[in-house]
Amino acid sequence: MPSKEKKLNGTVIVTYRCNARCTMCNRYKAPSRPEEELGLDTIRKLPKMYFTNITGGEPFIRTDLPEIVRELYRKSDRIVISTNGYFTDRIVALAREFPQVGIRISIEGLEKTNNEIRGLENGFQRGYQTLKTLREMGMKDVGFGMTVQDRNAPDLVPLYDISDEMGMEFATASLHNSFYFVESKNIIHDRPMVAKHFEDLVNKLLRSRSPKKWFRAYFNHGLINYIYGQPRLLPCDMSFDTFFIDPYGDVMPCNGTKDKEVMGNLNRQSWDELWNSPEAAAVREKVRRCDRQCWMIGSVSPAMHKYIWKPAWWVLVHKIKSLFTSKPYSMFENRICRDYRDGKVTKEELDLCSTCDLCAAASDGLSKDSRGLLSEKTGEEIVADDLARQMEKENDQRS
Ligand code: SF4
Ligand code: SF4
Repeated sequence: MPSKEKKLNGTVIVTYRCNARCTMCNRYKAPSRPEEELGLDTIRKLPKMYFTNITGGEPFIRTDLPEIVRELYRKSDRIVISTNGYFTDRIVALAREFPQVGIRISIEGLEKTNNEIRGLENGFQRGYQTLKTLREMGMKDVGFGMTVQDRNAPDLVPLYDISDEMGMEFATASLHNSFYFVESKNIIHDRPMVAKHFEDLVNKLLRSRSPKKWFRAYFNHGLINYIYGQPRLLPCDMSFDTFFIDPYGDVMPCNGTKDKEVMGNLNRQSWDELWNSPEAAAVREKVRRCDRQCWMIGSVSPAMHKYIWKPAWWVLVHKIKSLFTSKPYSMFENRICRDYRDGKVTKEELDLCSTCDLCAAASDGLSKDSRGLLSEKTGEEIVADDLARQMEKENDQRS
């Protein structure tokens, strides 16, 4: 398998620590020990990448993030950092040093909804102000990310409008269950209501003049398909030319699996050894048989590039329709939406198609040592103590 000549798509999870308290993700309850988190020596072993997403937990909790970004720029054409936007000063300082970096701030709805879902006091204002400051600095690659659920679906289009006015990217997702989110009970309850808001967004995107937005419309069409529990619109090729690496150096196919699937460990192995190992081959076999049907940008964006003719045909058909109607897209183009509307399939049957498992204990992907810490303190206490120590150090350096 070629690994040197071919550039990959990589996601680097630099930490599992997080200061937020999101309702759809329990990662903040299961942080990684800072001493175990990816170091520069391991990052240096990563392959060449055409795209790198840096994520967490909350990546800006790591005070050495600028060093990580510097190292990653040696091997990556483009870097985008996903953040909850809370650490404004750190984000702005990093953006000053790397003006070409992309920043995606998760905002889960308008102010009240966002703060309820995110569990961060003043979270909306902080995220919004961070975005505004980045824009005023002239940063081009900045935008919002929203995970759509029953509670915030009515805010989907209003939030898109704000991002559009600010000339920003607008990325969407919906609820997923996996070890990465330490969650197994996420589910959309009122599918037609949520789908209707996605339909409105798809129509707005299709009416825009931006080809990029037309393809985003296709992605959101795929989200309707996903929340109805249907097979992915495009094959999933994770682990073939894409990878995730977790804070412990474990290389994984994706972040959507129920339990952590490991191809190898980059702390202990070289990239070539790991990527061509029997363990990696076994994980690829599992990916080929995977039935989780995720529709997250990390696995869909590479598929949209690879199987471009499929989204391109969909875009063409709907752009032609948009010449004759202001509503070129209907959610009822999806057969499953019609079947549910017409009573041919029940809510209970659709629930069974989802990955929600109310009886399962969610897996967390933590190392033995990180989990050991949780016997002494909660994840929230561990992260709060850690942040307090960082503040103390910063104050000492200032005085
Ligand atoms: S979704 Fe992101 S910000 Fe929210 S708890 Fe999980 S890792 Fe933290
Ligand atoms: S569908 Fe793809 S992204 Fe989702 S868990 Fe399976 S292999 Fe991972």
